[in-house]
Amino acid sequence: MITSLRLDLRNPERVPYGLAFRVIYPRGAHKEEGEEAEIGGGGNWWRWGWIGGWLGRSDRGARSPLPSLEIKARSGDFAPLVPSEVSNSVWFSGFWCSATESSAVPEVTLSSCDTTMPVIGMGTSSYPKVDPETAKAAILEAIRAGYRHFDTAFAYGSEQDLGEAIAEALRLGLVKSRTELFITTKLFASFAERELVVPAINKSLRNLQLEYVDMYLIHWPFKFGKVVSSMPVEKGVLLPLDIKSVWEGMEECKRLGLARGIGVSNFTSEMLEDLLSIAKIPPALNQLEMNPLWQLKKLREFCKAKGIHVTAYSPLGSTGTKFGGNKVLGSKVLQDIAESKGKTTAQIALRWVYQQGVSLVTKSVNKERMNQNIDIFGWSLTEEELDEISRLPQHKTITFASIMGPHDVVLQVDAGL
Ligand code: NAP
Repeated sequence: MITSLRLDLRNPERVPYGLAFRVIYPRGAHKEEGEEAEIGGGGNWWRWGWIGGWLGRSDRGARSPLPSLEIKARSGDFAPLVPSEVSNSVWFSGFWCSATESSAVPEVTLSSCDTTMPVIGMGTSSYPKVDPETAKAAILEAIRAGYRHFDTAFAYGSEQDLGEAIAEALRLGLVKSRTELFITTKLFASFAERELVVPAINKSLRNLQLEYVDMYLIHWPFKFGKVVSSMPVEKGVLLPLDIKSVWEGMEECKRLGLARGIGVSNFTSEMLEDLLSIAKIPPALNQLEMNPLWQLKKLREFCKAKGIHVTAYSPLGSTGTKFGGNKVLGSKVLQDIAESKGKTTAQIALRWVYQQGVSLVTKSVNKERMNQNIDIFGWSLTEEELDEISRLPQHKTITFASIMGPHDVVLQVDAGL
C-alpha cells in the first residue's frame, strides 16, 4: 500500500477540510528536511487560502509557502491511498487532489510477509570491514536520512553493529518503535539444514538485540559441511543445498514468529522451481546482484511470473570494495544521462533499478552519498533513457567462483545467475 503522496499546493484542487495529516517537509523548506509536524482539523488558515486544514502552532511562524507537502497516511486515518506513481489525481478522503509521485520512500507488499518493505535499504557489508564505531554512526546517520530498511547477514559480521545502532536510535528517539524498521538478515551456509536454522536465526537475533527480523533469507544456494571462517572454501566442504531440509527450517522461523517473511538470495530459476515444488510458504523474495550492467532480465521475468519479488544488491557495482569495480559508475552512458538531468551517476543507476519494479539495497557510510542515494523518488528516467540503458553491454561484478573457489556447485550457480 502506498502510504504517502505529494500534494502540489501551488496548483491545488480540492484538499480535504479538517483532516489529520502528518507532514514531512521537502528539501529546502523552512523546517529541517524530514522533520514532521501535525496538521490538525478545525478551519482554514489564511496562508493556505481555501485549502482545508491548518498547520499546527509550530508552523505558524513560517515565512514562505511550501511548494509541496509530503503527506503520510497514519493507519486508521484514511482509506488506503491509490498508488500516486500511476495516477495524476488521488481520491483522498472524499476529495480529489492533484498528486505527483512522492519523494518519500515507497513500500512494497511481499507475498507471505506480515509487513511491507521500503524499496530502498541500507546495506551493511563492507570489504575491508569498517570499524564498529564507523558502522554504527553510519546506521544512525542513515536513519536520520530516512532509511528504514537495513540489510545485514551473519556472514558480514555486521549484525552486532546494526543491533547496537538500532538500540541507540530507539534511545535517541530517531525511531519511535522497532516496528518502524525493516530488518533483513541471512542464514549462513554452515547452518543450511533443518535442525540448524532456528538456532542460527536465534543467534542472529541475539546479535541484533531483536525479537524478530522482518526478512530472513537463505544467503547462498549451497551449504558448507562445517563452520567456515575464510574463503576460498576447501574441496569437499562446499556442498549442494538440500532445499527441502533447509526450507523446512526457514518455514519454522516464520511459524515461530522469529521472521515476518522468509526468502532466498542468489537462487537461479532452477533452484526456485525446486523450492516452489516443496514450499508450504513460498519465498517472498530473491536477493540478487543487479545493476545497469547486470540487468538479469530472464531471471527477473521468471521471479515475477512466480510472484517472487526481486531485491537488487550491489546496484552501484559494489564500487570501491574488494570485489567491485568502477564499471557502473564509470559508464559513459550513465554519466551523460546524469549530467543532462542534474543528477549523479549513482542516482541514475539506482533510479534505473527502481524503475524495473524491484527494490534495492545499497551501502554507504558517507552522509552525503547516503542522502544522495535515497533521493531517487519524485523524478524519473524517460523511456529513451531507459532504452539507452537497456542496451548497455553486460558484466557481472561478483562471481561466487572468484570468492569461494571453482567448485562444480559454485560454477553451476554462477552460470544460472
Ligand atoms: P553497492 O551498494 O553497489 O556499492 C557500495 C559501494 O559504493 C561502497 O564502497 C560505497 O562507498 C560506494 N558508494 C555508495 N554510494 C555512492 C555514491 N553515491 N557515489 C559513489 N560511490 C558510492 O554495493 P554492495 O555494498 O556490494 O551492495 C549493497 C548491499 O547489498 C551490501 O552492503 C549488502 O548488504 C548487500 N549484498 C548482498 C549480497 C548477497 O549475496 N545477498 C551480496 C553483496 C551485497 P561509501 O560507503 O564510502 O559511500
